[in-house]
Amino acid sequence: PSVWAHIPEAPADPILGLNEAFKADPHPSKLNLGVGAYRTEDGKPLVLNVVRKAEMALVTDPNSNKEYLGIAGNAVFCRLSRELAFGTSCQAVRGNRIATVQSLSGTGALRVGAEFLKEHHPSKVIYLPQPTWGNHTKVFKRAGLEVRTYRYYDSTTCGLNFQGLMEDLMGAPSDSIILLHACAHNPTGVDPTPDQWKQMLKAIAGKQLLPFFDSAYQGFASGSLSADAAGLRMFADACPQLLLAQSYAKNMGMYGERAGALSVLCSSQGEAAVVASQLKQVIRPMYSNPPRHGAGIVAAILGSPELFREWEVELSGMADRIKLMRSKLHEALRQRGTPGSWEHILKQIGMFSYTGLSKRQVEHVTKKWHIYMTLDGRISMAGLSAKTCGYLADAMDDAVR
Ligand code: PLP
Repeated sequence: PSVWAHIPEAPADPILGLNEAFKADPHPSKLNLGVGAYRTEDGKPLVLNVVRKAEMALVTDPNSNKEYLGIAGNAVFCRLSRELAFGTSCQAVRGNRIATVQSLSGTGALRVGAEFLKEHHPSKVIYLPQPTWGNHTKVFKRAGLEVRTYRYYDSTTCGLNFQGLMEDLMGAPSDSIILLHACAHNPTGVDPTPDQWKQMLKAIAGKQLLPFFDSAYQGFASGSLSADAAGLRMFADACPQLLLAQSYAKNMGMYGERAGALSVLCSSQGEAAVVASQLKQVIRPMYSNPPRHGAGIVAAILGSPELFREWEVELSGMADRIKLMRSKLHEALRQRGTPGSWEHILKQIGMFSYTGLSKRQVEHVTKKWHIYMTLDGRISMAGLSAKTCGYLADAMDDAVR
């Protein structure tokens, strides 16, 4: 018998499964709002002009080569990524107190961070918001951390359960690790206000909890790179240690290039050097060293004032289109007199909106209207267009009546 004969088949990934079902559906009006990737008004994937430009320069540069990067990746990319996230005036950046390694996009940064914590952090307990991006639980469990949750979303208001969140932070054993979405919380689209960030910081710093920021949407949420980093920067100024996972998948539209970074903020420059040496110990036996191409493109854009400005314009273009879809969908629901309050569609931020549709209502919308979304009622705003907002509103109206 085969040595694999005893293995049970694993469940399909819920989001990738959705794509399969969408592809197999022959209906002409079918709509896929499941994917977490930006689409143009015509429903097409977008490669930013600035990315094409940097890429062309890179591949035609006669001095470029395909040698291995070091274990920690492209050092210029790492420095520029750190400065992008924390800001150049951040004391920890200026004091060289942050160890940064290039990672396989955001997921790879989370995983390397998790492996590092498993080995070197005293508590090995991480609190994730309830709900959170599905892969968070798997990444941290696989790495051997104990995963717990803190309250986050309030389904009665489709907003933040701030009181529950604060109670759970205060109830966490000191030393615990707290995962925070830097902005554009996935899947809910619900973020803390600046004042709420301040109160969370007070609780987290006061209890000596260790923040682990996941920044997958910097600039993509509000259109402003600094506004989307405000929570992180507030913490970086006040916490002696923290971790940050960065991804360029969304904000540079470089999904498949796997460009990201992990930063560990430390108490001193010497400590940062030691931490960097240990991050390399995690990486070397896992994948040896990261890919050159995506990081080369990112470094070229971040390092050139001219390309950087072009990027900011294209980035806010994507953010603006998503905001426009929010107002169009909201308006379409208002016009139809759809029962319920839909203010949250306007208030939520980033790629996703938690519509508040129940599992049963989602199933109805998929079966009758051929609109695909995750069963928690999450829709990708980037999958909508001016043409399809009305169709979605028809379907939602039908589902809730
Ligand atoms: N974290 C969050 C909250 C995300 O939504 C995503 C992508 O959807 C990621 C991390 C990681 O994405 P990637 O590994 O493609 O950078």
